[in-house]
Amino acid sequence: MGSMKSVRTIPSPHSLSSLLCKNTQIVSVGSEVVESMVGTKAKHLLYDIDRNIIQKQEELIFSRSPTIMTPKEKKISKKCVCGKQRVFPPKSNVCIHCLRSVNKGQSQQL
Ligand SMILES: [Zn+2]
Repeated sequence: MGSMKSVRTIPSPHSLSSLLCKNTQIVSVGSEVVESMVGTKAKHLLYDIDRNIIQKQEELIFSRSPTIMTPKEKKISKKCVCGKQRVFPPKSNVCIHCLRSVNKGQSQQL
């Protein structure tokens, strides 16, 4: 009987994609057509984390926007030169987005 309750907590595909759209860590990587049991076809968007920015699981915290930060993360977050409120990576004076774009710029010049 308890299993009925846990099913309800799973978000519907619609609410899930609207949630993911608001998440700055997530990028849309395409779509797939899914055929349902009754034969109707629906297009589902596929999402992935932004792997240009987030290369390790630990780095997820550094790309969180203030709206999804925990109170503890908010406390240690700082405003970056780019205007984003972020938890900075250790020994860094800029957010991970700026850190990655600097590294990207250097590799492109080589
Ligand atoms: Zn920045």
